[in-house]
Amino acid sequence: MWSSREAASSGPRSPGGPPPLGSRSSWWTRSAATLAPASEALFGEGALLRINLLALARFGSFAAELEEVTGRRAGLRREGTLAVAYDPGDYAALMRLTAFRRSAGLDTEELDSRACRKLESFLTPDVHGGVLFAGDWSVDNRRYAAVLREAAAAAGVRMVRGRVTEVLVRDGRARGVAVADGETIGSAQVVVAAGCWSGEVDGLPAELRDVVRPVKGQLLRLRHPDAMPPVLAHTIRATVRGADVYLVPRADGEVIVGATSEERGPDRTVTAGAVHDLLHDAMSVLPVTSELILAETCAGLRPGTPDNGPVVGGFGAGSGHSGLLLATGHYRNGILMSPVTADAIVACMTGQPAAAEWAPFTPERFVSGAQAR
Ligand SMILES: Cc1cc2nc3c(=O)[nH]c(=O)nc-3n(C[C@H](O)[C@H](O)[C@H](O)COP(=O)(O)OP(=O)(O)OC[C@H]3O[C@@H](n4cnc5c(N)ncnc54)[C@H](O)[C@@H]3O)c2cc1C
Repeated sequence: MWSSREAASSGPRSPGGPPPLGSRSSWWTRSAATLAPASEALFGEGALLRINLLALARFGSFAAELEEVTGRRAGLRREGTLAVAYDPGDYAALMRLTAFRRSAGLDTEELDSRACRKLESFLTPDVHGGVLFAGDWSVDNRRYAAVLREAAAAAGVRMVRGRVTEVLVRDGRARGVAVADGETIGSAQVVVAAGCWSGEVDGLPAELRDVVRPVKGQLLRLRHPDAMPPVLAHTIRATVRGADVYLVPRADGEVIVGATSEERGPDRTVTAGAVHDLLHDAMSVLPVTSELILAETCAGLRPGTPDNGPVVGGFGAGSGHSGLLLATGHYRNGILMSPVTADAIVACMTGQPAAAEWAPFTPERFVSGAQAR
């Protein structure tokens, strides 16, 4: 729904304006699209792990549905993630995380350096050791976005291009939206799903205005030269002297290398330092990376929240905002969570209960007094 944004709107909550919706510059086309709850599970993020596991369990059937409707592949890969450690310090850190992930019931298989290279023959012999997370997947985000758009159109979804400025709320109920060109669109329910720009839409409860912030991520797209066989089968997640880098193979021969995580507000520039660091770390574990073609560099903005969790759902009766729903703040996992987010929003809109895993991620957790209502 986005066409342009006035420079005058920039400010702390105005991360430079969103990319055109539906264009190849949407963040959906600028992410690595790992579907990797296990190899991304972090200490203190138990609730997030549970929703990510639910999301992965749902992803296969959702992608199959899209493929059936469109007759095109979504680019799903199920080979798993091989996490590797470059030096003994990296290995000790990986083992600490692995113990935590195993205690959370995740499928982990510890491998020595030789076993890692048996799985991925182009890894450097210097790799100290690794862990296979066989349950992780990835998806080709550009293909996935394309089939999703096509399936939505086939289901009768009408796309309206334009910047929503305000959710119209009257008598405690959402009534529709106002668009930048002066048009209003009436609707009994409104879902704000504007990524890190969500707080800019007027009409939200005041406490939600500053909840979602942009977290910059830079990544690279590499391509195999003609006639070069694929250099990777698994997603590789490497720690190189304390720095994290991942390499994600695509079916069409691309390898995504990412990603930085930077608190730089709306900045979307690609920096020489980030390109250098990502390539340096990728080449440290997979020297053959230097022979791949650097096809694209890009930067995107993850919609981050104070507790790293998404913001999905509506507001209770008497909240003054019935009919208003949010589907935002998906931070590092927005592609992974897309099917379960859709399920949760449909449940809210039709008065059904959402899956229990969503309970910690309602918008009301940020609105003082709302839980008591
Ligand atoms: C480098 C990088 C790597 C990533 N890797 C992964 C990964 O491996 N796996 C994973 O699952 N996720 C990953 N992500 C995260 C994922 O990309 C995000 O979580 C996801 O894009 C969030 O989707 P969204 O639709 O909520 O928000 P966005 O993708 O930000 O889209 C928001 C949309 O809303 C539109 N919009 C904004 N304001 C308005 C308005 N006022 N009116 C109308 N339209 C508006 C914008 O134009 C945009 O199209 C990564 C992100 C980055 C940057």
